[in-house]
Amino acid sequence: MDSVLITGANRGIGLELAKRYAASGARVFATCRIPQQAQALRALAADAANVSVHALEVTDGAAVDALRAELADVSLDVLINNAGIMGGERQGVSDMDYAAWAEAFAVNTMAPFRLLAALRGNLQRASRPRAVTLSSQMGSLARKSAGAHAYRSSKAAVNKVMQVLALELQADGIIVCPVHPGWVRTDMGGQSASISVEESAQGLIDLIDGLEMAHSGRFWTWDGTEHPW
Ligand code: NDP
Repeated sequence: MDSVLITGANRGIGLELAKRYAASGARVFATCRIPQQAQALRALAADAANVSVHALEVTDGAAVDALRAELADVSLDVLINNAGIMGGERQGVSDMDYAAWAEAFAVNTMAPFRLLAALRGNLQRASRPRAVTLSSQMGSLARKSAGAHAYRSSKAAVNKVMQVLALELQADGIIVCPVHPGWVRTDMGGQSASISVEESAQGLIDLIDGLEMAHSGRFWTWDGTEHPW
C-alpha cells in the first residue's frame, strides 16, 4: 500500500485526498499549517491509525527541514504538493498587490520545489515514486485569458519547474508531474465551480495510481487527459 504526503491537507482538495487515501489503507502523512485548528483533519487522524498530522508552513525552510528529519526513515510513494493560494485580491494592471504576488510565488512555485528537494531521499526509497504538484489551467500558456497575474504566473512557473525537475530526477526514478485538478467547489474555487472535491480528488488519485515514467514531465488534468502547456 502506498505512503502519501499531502500539503495543505486541512481543507479543500487536500482534505478530500487525505480522506480517500486513508480509506484506501494508504499511509497518509497529512500536513497543514496549524494542526490545532485543523478539526476535520484531526478527526480523520483520530479515527484512522494510518493517518498522522504534521505541522508545515510550506514556505518555512526550517519547518521543511524539520519534517524531513522527522520522516528520515520513511519510504514515500507519493508526494502531493497541494497547498496553494490565489495571491491576493488586487492582481490587475492598474492595481497590483506586489507583496501578495511574491507570496504566491513563495507558496505556489518555490515551496513545491523545496518539498520535492527535501523529500527526494524518501521518494528514492520507493519502487515507483511520484511527485505531483497541483497546478492550474490558469497557468497554461496555451490558454489566452486576462487577469489574475499573480496566480497565473505562479502556476505557469511551477509547471516549468516541474518539467525541469522531471528531467533531473529521472535517474532517481522519480516521476514528476504538474496536474490541473479541475475547477473545484472549494474556498478557492467557489460554489459556481464545475466539479466537487470528491470528483476531483478521486480523479487525481486514479491519475496518480497510473503514473509511470513515460508520463513524467507532462502536464495532466484530473480526468486523466493531458493538458496543453
Ligand atoms: P483551498 O483554498 O480550499 O485550500 C488551500 C490549502 O492550501 C489550505 O489547506 C491552506 O491552508 C493551504 N495553504 C495555503 N498556503 C499555505 C502555506 N503557506 N503553507 C501551508 N499550507 C498552505 O484550495 P483548493 O483546495 O481549492 O486548492 C488546492 C490546490 O489546487 C491549490 O494549489 C490550488 O491552486 C489548486 N487549484 C484549485 C482549483 C480550484 O478550482 N479549487 C483550480 C486549479 C488549481 P490554510 O487553511 O492554513 O490556509
